[in-house]
Amino acid sequence: MQKYGGSSVADAEGVKRVAQRIVDAKRAGHDVVVVVSAMGDTTDELIDLAQQVSPMPPPRELDMLLTAGERISMALLAMAVGNLGHEARSFTGSQAGVITDSSHGKAKIIDVTPGRIQKALGEGAIAIVAGFQGVSQDTKDITTLGRGGSDTTAVALAAALRADCCEIYTDVDGVFTADPRIVPSAQRREHVSYEEMLEMAACGAKILHLRCVEYARRYDIPIHVRSSFSKLTGTWISNTPPTAPAAPTGESSTMEQAIIAGVAHDRSEAKITVVGVPDKIGEAARIFEALAGAGINLDMIVQNISAAATNLTDISFSLPRADGGTAMTALDRIKEEVGFASLLYDDQIGKVSLIGAGMRSHPGVTAKFFSALAAAGVNIQMISTSEIRISVVVDELQVDDAVRAAHAAFDLDSDQVEAVVYGGTGR
Ligand code: ADP
Ligand code: ASP
Ligand code: MG
Repeated sequence: MQKYGGSSVADAEGVKRVAQRIVDAKRAGHDVVVVVSAMGDTTDELIDLAQQVSPMPPPRELDMLLTAGERISMALLAMAVGNLGHEARSFTGSQAGVITDSSHGKAKIIDVTPGRIQKALGEGAIAIVAGFQGVSQDTKDITTLGRGGSDTTAVALAAALRADCCEIYTDVDGVFTADPRIVPSAQRREHVSYEEMLEMAACGAKILHLRCVEYARRYDIPIHVRSSFSKLTGTWISNTPPTAPAAPTGESSTMEQAIIAGVAHDRSEAKITVVGVPDKIGEAARIFEALAGAGINLDMIVQNISAAATNLTDISFSLPRADGGTAMTALDRIKEEVGFASLLYDDQIGKVSLIGAGMRSHPGVTAKFFSALAAAGVNIQMISTSEIRISVVVDELQVDDAVRAAHAAFDLDSDQVEAVVYGGTGR
């Protein structure tokens, strides 16, 4: 099972290069199933186009439009493979048996029935599947799995086909200790546990889609993240690290002892502050019930102590930017009832997270992280933690500085070669 991201098939040259890799795998004796994303920034361009004709495109039609991106790349890739003398058949998500629920734009896979893929493989063909899409069990409408969802298609198919592993081909050499576009001295990890990768993906490291990692952990499918532009080994994501080759004498692998697996960042969130909430029992419940009713997932929440004189408090929380408008409308509706003073909306924020299973047993990680941010002149607006993660919200313009400062403070910078970013626009 192989998956190629958009940057790997950005143009005709890319499609031909990927076709060659697929044919190589086939010639090596494998049954090859390929999941492919839309070419380059096609998905973003289609979204821009939709917004030009309608400020709020109907979700059903938007999904229909976006899935066209993957149709283009799958058909071109099948043609390119054919041109190298091997039969390839392309399939939409629906044809490949990817069955989802009906929530457009963020559909969940509920079943995979890959009969047509198995038949194609049985007949000696290479199967090429459009990523990021499925068909709703109830409505029979075409759905998409959310941005970056092709990774999830690949792992879900790998599980259904009982593949040994899933190779995710992208534009960097694996999972690094931070996004190499921000920290060129980031180091490639040999191995990352599902647990750490889940936190990294949840914290915005877009190298892998969150649901893909959840799926891989549930079905115990090892993932190999690697570059489609080089032959190098990438990063293995699984429960147990592969038995490491003996370290050269006198040297131990510092990466394996690291407390911190990596630094992740996320620029897709916004912050809402409810100002002047009466400090009474039940007020917070009412606010968060209204948000839950609007189907909004919150991330961090901070409530200040009320000023003694006024008995009023402020409550701030972060949420996906895409849900900002809906949340503000839902809160506005309960303004009189709750009796708060006003609402503030801020989408100029970013989240920076430090992730590592080693944090459990090492005190002082938080202090070191916060001192590094202070030394870099970065102000912390919100904080949240889990057993193996510390996240802070900072000004969007300071995200890069914060990532670099944290990365350096935990000695993650490599003194050897710089990480290579082979393609993509980082959009
Ligand atoms: P694809 O088109 O192959 O799906 P994506 O753009 O979705 O690729 O994901 C790859 C990008 O993820 C890289 O180019 C890199 O900028 C970004 N990235 C973020 N965090 C990390 C990380 N920790 N390690 C490697 N890449 C990362
Ligand atoms: N093409 C989709 C996107 O840009 C899916 C993917 O690339 O995984 O989000
Ligand atoms: Mg991706």
